[in-house]
Amino acid sequence: MKTVVLKFGGTSVGNIDRIKNVARIIASYKKKKFGVIVVSSAISGSTNKLIKKTKELSNNFDPAEYDVLLSSGEQASCALIAGRLKHLGFKTRSWMSWQLPIITEGPYNSSRINKINKNKISNYIRSGGIPIITGFQGINLENRVTTLGRGGTDSSAIMLAKFFNAYSCHVYTDVNGVYTTDPRNHHKAKKIDKISYDEMLEMASLGAKVMQPTSVQDAKINNISFSVKSSFTKNEGTLITGNKKAFSDKIITGITSTKNDAKVTMIGVKDKPGVAASIFKPLSLNQINVDMVVQNISLNSKETDLTFTIKSEDLKKTEKTIKQNKKISFRKITYDNNVSKVSIIGVGMITTPGITYRMFQALASKNINIMVISTSEIKISVLISNKHIKKAIAVLHKEFKLD
Ligand code: ADP
Ligand code: ASP
Ligand code: MG
Repeated sequence: MKTVVLKFGGTSVGNIDRIKNVARIIASYKKKKFGVIVVSSAISGSTNKLIKKTKELSNNFDPAEYDVLLSSGEQASCALIAGRLKHLGFKTRSWMSWQLPIITEGPYNSSRINKINKNKISNYIRSGGIPIITGFQGINLENRVTTLGRGGTDSSAIMLAKFFNAYSCHVYTDVNGVYTTDPRNHHKAKKIDKISYDEMLEMASLGAKVMQPTSVQDAKINNISFSVKSSFTKNEGTLITGNKKAFSDKIITGITSTKNDAKVTMIGVKDKPGVAASIFKPLSLNQINVDMVVQNISLNSKETDLTFTIKSEDLKKTEKTIKQNKKISFRKITYDNNVSKVSIIGVGMITTPGITYRMFQALASKNINIMVISTSEIKISVLISNKHIKKAIAVLHKEFKLD
């Protein structure tokens, strides 16, 4: 029997009518004689509500308890889906991840699945049942519940598709697929029919919330093609695949932006060997992830100015770490929490000259100042003031003929 994995995101199970609708989608696959594995997120908003409670109780909530708490949302939505399918006459039941089990490794809050025990689910499917499995969670070797990072049900779906050698994997969400840019930010965004793992990975990592970055990495490593589609419409969706034919004929495939970056600028840092290491080592020891970095040599070449970006949630910790760092001296430091990173992504830029220039020119034509630049083989990112985000996306979308 061919098995399909169906993943439903938070908004797809967001209310009673939507849960009924999800049950109809599941039933349609079952009627086509597929073995069906369902994996669901928590009802939209419920994970955020739980996180808020932990923050009210402690600014350092125990990570293991945090995972026990957060994983509870998925238990509820899976029971609701299974209850509805039972009502419709199907053989079905919910499965918590520990009941399989789904084994994870790595730290609490951002664990990764490394093994799924198939036996119980395979037998259940063979007996005609539809398992409804909690996304976003697993258990570790200490037998404790873990979670996979925000949006982690995407990873659960990809890894279920891998371990069950699924015929296909469909990620149902609240938009028709992956778009050239977030359709909620730009009305001219166009749905992409097919996209490569590499481009999807860059888009997800650079702010396209539609897929969790880790899940795309899992898909790429294990060569699991999957589709992203809407649970509200019958639209075809987007295929994410390693197949070369998926490469678009456009130079730029997508544009992304981030919301939660912050910029730190240190002016007049004494310039001597090892200075950058003495700044960044304590940051990394405090789990602060530094993203973009630029360093300018000052005119007398004894001092340098250093700018770098971090997540805004790490800003306070960064300020504290720099203050406590006795190994560096500088004249002045400034922090800016109102910045965003805008990126253009596309494998086409490898073979097409002049993309950087076109990007900068387009932004300049709208008087948008670029603060920091970073590039890789298939993306160019710039840091700009976040008040210009919409304007920047619109002008780049037009410049690279995505409108
Ligand atoms: P789910 O709850 O189904 O996991 P998410 O909220 O995590 O859904 O992801 C879907 C959202 O991602 C969409 O509502 C959309 O606003 C956002 N998004 C951001 N960038 C893109 C993009 N390039 N294409 C499609 N959606 C995007
Ligand atoms: N419920 C989790 C979250 O909100 C996991 C998911 O939705 O994929 O992050
Ligand atoms: Mg999601």
